[in-house]
Amino acid sequence: MSNMNITMNQTTPFGDKSAANKVDDLRPKAGDALLVVDVQNDFLPGGRLGVPHGDEVLPVINHYTHHFLTKGLPIFYSRDWHPADHCSFRAQGGPWPVHCVAGSAGAAFATELYRAETATIISKATQRDTEAYSAFSGTSLADRLRQAACRRLFIGGLATDYCVLNTVRDAIANGLVPVVLRDAVRAVNRHPGDGERAMAEMRALGVHFAGPEDLPP
Ligand SMILES: [Zn+2]
Repeated sequence: MSNMNITMNQTTPFGDKSAANKVDDLRPKAGDALLVVDVQNDFLPGGRLGVPHGDEVLPVINHYTHHFLTKGLPIFYSRDWHPADHCSFRAQGGPWPVHCVAGSAGAAFATELYRAETATIISKATQRDTEAYSAFSGTSLADRLRQAACRRLFIGGLATDYCVLNTVRDAIANGLVPVVLRDAVRAVNRHPGDGERAMAEMRALGVHFAGPEDLPP
């Protein structure tokens, strides 16, 4: 199941790589980056495109953010950053209500989201006629990760069945190993079961799922 490269591990007794795999694999280390996907006011409960229970991801993401900061690992925040007449809005024939208009309060990052000053912001779907669910779509994210020599990308945020799923697909397409923070994603479920299907697809793609227990104390 695992496609992790653990040949660099020097501490494994008796060459038992499967044991090392279980213990070490999902601990953030050099070569890892954190991507926080679209934790913006409009995607939180009460927002214009509120994701049910979307606010519950905040403590998990903040916990991870502090850990990545402490380790000096790169952190990225993506954000939906639309023009007022974006093609994804219903007035233009799209599926969504108006949301995340660039510069609006709804497009701002959630107040409770801890913001690392050294982090890089990735704005997406900034052009009227182009939709972008993936944080890689039409952005510099892949280049920046390459420049930072990142191989694994830890991903949390909103929403599981759209921007997280598509970002995971593109991470794989860019040769990265995605690790989804399983307690730090929530689904829109525009169609019942969308979130479950997205998780199943990610599992089928061999995606790893990490949680706070994977962070060293
Ligand atoms: Zn959008």
